[in-house]
Amino acid sequence: MALLSFENLQHSYKQLGEQFYSMQAPTPVTAPMLIRLNRELAEQLNLDPAALASEEGLKLLAGNAIPDNIEPIATVYAGHQFGGWNPQLGDGRAILLGEVLAQDGRRYDIQLKGAGRTPYSRMGDGRSPIGPVIREYLVSEAMAAFGVPTTRALAAVATGEPVMREGLLPGGILTRVAQSHLRVGTMQYFSARGDLESVKALADYVIERHYAEQIEQSREEPYTALLTSIVAAQAQLIAQWMSLGFIHGVMNTDNMLLCGETVDYGPCAFMDSYNPMKVFSSIDTQGRYAFANQAEIGRWNLSWLAQALLPLMAEAEGADEQSALKKAEAILENYSNIFMGHYQHLLAEKLGFAEASEEVNPLSLKLLQLMAEEGADFSLTFRTLADHLAPPGERQFLNDIHTLPDTFANWIEAWQALLGGKNIAPQEARRLMNSKNPAYIPRNHQVETAIQGAMQGDYSHFNRMADVFARPYEYSETNHEFTLPPTPEEEVQRTFCGT
Ligand code: AMP
Ligand code: MG
Repeated sequence: MALLSFENLQHSYKQLGEQFYSMQAPTPVTAPMLIRLNRELAEQLNLDPAALASEEGLKLLAGNAIPDNIEPIATVYAGHQFGGWNPQLGDGRAILLGEVLAQDGRRYDIQLKGAGRTPYSRMGDGRSPIGPVIREYLVSEAMAAFGVPTTRALAAVATGEPVMREGLLPGGILTRVAQSHLRVGTMQYFSARGDLESVKALADYVIERHYAEQIEQSREEPYTALLTSIVAAQAQLIAQWMSLGFIHGVMNTDNMLLCGETVDYGPCAFMDSYNPMKVFSSIDTQGRYAFANQAEIGRWNLSWLAQALLPLMAEAEGADEQSALKKAEAILENYSNIFMGHYQHLLAEKLGFAEASEEVNPLSLKLLQLMAEEGADFSLTFRTLADHLAPPGERQFLNDIHTLPDTFANWIEAWQALLGGKNIAPQEARRLMNSKNPAYIPRNHQVETAIQGAMQGDYSHFNRMADVFARPYEYSETNHEFTLPPTPEEEVQRTFCGT
């Protein structure tokens, strides 16, 4: 198979014009090795797993040999990083090979992350240590298994070359897949330069590529509809993160995708012990991206998207600036409603109720409050609660060693009474709970163990975790260790960007 399965690679984004990217081939590496290939995903993308796993395939995934039909690029963007404006960023260590049409009929970007320098690398080396590759693979694939919109990991490659960070670390390349890598920061880049034509071209492209079904072409207000759609997608996304105890860690506007997928698994983590003010990122000294701040930061980021789209909402939709502004404000105001509605719905399901309601919502909030007071383990609490509805022989988490704190007793009584009051059978509630509350989350200390192994060339823990997290709701005793919170010695306090 001469051109591998990449012979159908497309380059629709390039057609937007040269101001959107730079031509950039990956820089070859000396001794690439395939660590893991995501065969299931390859098939969904109409790519041939056998070809990707071959020697030729590895050359492509390592950036060592790019077939003639592929026109690799680095894309340009800007962004607010930790609240500060940066007028030019871009793919500094990521190279877009092109797009494939997948089995679901959608178009996906295939990107090599860590494939060498680009015109946007600034002081960086364009490379990635193996650690961040391992983390992104595990966490993004777990997110996908949880049903959260996210970029995916198609492959992890060891480069055989060291990269210089705290010391010399082994290098890696992640093949990342996304519905697109277009960011709020991409809009901002052109908006800040006053290049309205490019903002419009990009907006039209995003509508066509991501929101065509929601925004019929005949609509008279396509840009208002676009803002509405992206705001809703982000509100729901962040509600999903929070229902899983996920902290993104670096919610800069360049790390917010217009397609609504989670991107950039740098200093991210799932919480063990619940603390709404929890921060993981080593560089987030102000706690800007703490767990409980995420919804509000999402809104702040989206206000910059609104700012970029405003001129289109006015001029192209025949409104004056004042009324365009009013519309944008109303859309942003509604963000909080969408977020809260979705969050409450997800919390209700986590507790076995089919929907949120005036009775369920205070109960959910009360539980979170108790969990915070006790520092209860976020994921384990919900799975253990489900066990309260199980006959003793079928319990997985509730046992002599693990119980919920005594302070939960009244709450548990009230919860079971409400389930009863709503005529929800314990079995039914339990089934719903166990399909919404993962038995396994990629806990930081386990991710750290996988990274430490990978740094020594031992990928067994990584591979085992990747297998377990592909089915995170299916508890099995053999994988019980992955349900457990860290011991005090195992606890990881901070995660690093790995840039
Ligand atoms: P991030 O914090 O991962 O969102 O990255 C912020 C910006 O820094 C992006 O433009 C990245 O492309 C760039 N960047 C991060 N790490 C590197 C690196 N090792 N080499 C070049 N550019 C980098
Ligand atoms: Mg980024």
